[in-house]
Amino acid sequence: MDNKFPGKDISISDLKTKIPLCAKKNKNHKSIVKVKNISFGGKEIPVLAGPNTVENLKMIDKVGYCLKQNKISGMRGGAFKPLTFPYRSKKYFETKLDGLNWLEQTKKKYDLIVTTELMDIKYIDDVCLATDIIQIGTRNMQNYPLLTECAKTQMPIMLKRHYGSSLRDWLGAAEYILSEGNNKVILCERGISVPHTHRSTSRFLLDLQVIPALKEISHLPIISDPSHATFWAPWVESMTLASIAAGCDGLLIEIHPDPKNAAVDPLQPLNFKQFKNLMNKSRKLAKVFSRKIV
Ligand code: PEP
Ligand code: MN
Repeated sequence: MDNKFPGKDISISDLKTKIPLCAKKNKNHKSIVKVKNISFGGKEIPVLAGPNTVENLKMIDKVGYCLKQNKISGMRGGAFKPLTFPYRSKKYFETKLDGLNWLEQTKKKYDLIVTTELMDIKYIDDVCLATDIIQIGTRNMQNYPLLTECAKTQMPIMLKRHYGSSLRDWLGAAEYILSEGNNKVILCERGISVPHTHRSTSRFLLDLQVIPALKEISHLPIISDPSHATFWAPWVESMTLASIAAGCDGLLIEIHPDPKNAAVDPLQPLNFKQFKNLMNKSRKLAKVFSRKIV
């Protein structure tokens, strides 16, 4: 079908002319994005877990230790935080270059791969030096100059879906990165806005169907972030397991040594015990699909 009336659906002509680099070249075409010795898009399901905000060195060190104990290879944590409203209380702080430094120290100490969000191009070199994957947050998914500059670094890029975007918009953004000659793109589903959710804690709905939908047309790996989608720790376990069953290529999970006192979004992170239980269950489930949590 031609694309005379572009909508949210992806037409055959879109695959050929608008998102040719995202599109699969044949039925079995799958890309593996390698980050150090960790692969996204193969048999492994890497987990990137950590706090919303890198609050201080002590807390991120506890997180690194917890990851190592659970044989998890990746860490997340924000040094630059997009907040929905501009007013930051003393608790709502950004640790910026200090935070990056703490992430880097912890990553080296525990031999982890690390991702952190980049919002402002002026910090691009710092983020590239300190971390292994640049995270583009939901709010910047269509910030094309930012995508282009990040792509040029040749760093792996985790592109979170904007909560209001279609798969077509999302792949359009990914195409900006691929068209710069950077094919290290990892998509991340993090929940979309829908008219009917159950209560205020479920602002977003984890779009599990986008995982098989993407795999029908694209070779790119896709990971799932049940923490930002549910915004509510008690729902993270079921949505993590459902993501594995849906075929995700990785997981982004918020954990915190003391969730109640988290600087941002205290309802969202799992504590270390909950995380350990979840990783145990996830390992068992992944096996059913001949995959492996790392
Ligand atoms: C995050 O991962 O900390 C984050 C802010 O996510 P999102 O951009 O999906 O809201
Ligand atoms: Mn967050």
